[in-house]
Amino acid sequence: MSIEINKQKCVGCGKCRDVCPGTLIALDENKRAYIKYPRDCWGCTSCLKECPVQAIRFYLGADMGGTGSRMHTLKRGELLDWIIEFPDGGITTVTVDTKESNKY
Ligand code: SF4
Ligand code: SF4
Repeated sequence: MSIEINKQKCVGCGKCRDVCPGTLIALDENKRAYIKYPRDCWGCTSCLKECPVQAIRFYLGADMGGTGSRMHTLKRGELLDWIIEFPDGGITTVTVDTKESNKY
């Protein structure tokens, strides 16, 4: 599993670096994020959810039935959109109410 960070979109806020539980993300000399150890990413998706500009894509590999798809998230208040981009250009969005999903 791994992520891809679009340096053109990155605004250097450092939130992805701060939230990654494996300390896998760093900022370069231009304050743009990059993943130092892509093979160590275990796909917790925390960095996706923190990025304010949707600069991070998570690869959905064949082991997850993704076959080359990529995923990112968009926060809309209490709602969180999981947006999946397919290799053929198709897009699917799954919206989760975070207040409901965090109920125990
Ligand atoms: S998905 Fe999780 S483990 Fe992987 S880089 Fe992002 S925060 Fe780190
Ligand atoms: S959270 Fe997004 S904008 Fe902020 S440093 Fe990471 S990739 Fe860049």
